[in-house]
Amino acid sequence: MKIFCIGRNYVDHAKELGNVVPKEPLIFMKPPTALLINNKPFYHPDFSENIHYECEIVLKIGKNGKNIAERFAPNYIKEIGLGIDFTARDIQQKLKEKGHPWEIAKGFNGSAVIGDFVPVEKFENLENINFHLTKNQVKVQTGNTKDMIFNFSKLISHLSKYFLIHQGDYIYTGTPAGVGKIEIGDRLEGFLENEKIFHCNIK
Ligand code: ZN
Repeated sequence: MKIFCIGRNYVDHAKELGNVVPKEPLIFMKPPTALLINNKPFYHPDFSENIHYECEIVLKIGKNGKNIAERFAPNYIKEIGLGIDFTARDIQQKLKEKGHPWEIAKGFNGSAVIGDFVPVEKFENLENINFHLTKNQVKVQTGNTKDMIFNFSKLISHLSKYFLIHQGDYIYTGTPAGVGKIEIGDRLEGFLENEKIFHCNIK
């Protein structure tokens, strides 16, 4: 099982971090040990003083493929979920400045929260899915898949040029604006079309 992540896939978020809008998808990966499931708490590590939440729609892949054409890409999505790409922003900033890989800023234990999944058939239009994240019951991020720079099909097609796509793989599809710092004691809750998909207490 692989965990693909897409960076800077919403214009408003790319701008809030001062990044240029990419011409092709920006890809990174997290190891399976990053997964945090079943609404388990996230234990704030002491190597970072600025861990950010990034709420993102997560695709679960339903069959294997490679070199997938965009028009066939929807057939590879089995379920749609929501999660958090926790990011040690202070570490990431230092690595970015040196031009080094992001791994430890993005792939640490528990950095990939995933909630419940909804069968893809339940969505009328994959390019109009609303989601939001609350922190301590205040809405902090709101997104809609229509605002993605690269839609699901483009992401799957692009990824499959380089990587075999396997049943059970996950794709974090990028975060909208509003990312921010977590503190011990915070409670995050993620919603897909107003249905609660996960919660995560920071300990
Ligand atoms: Zn992200």
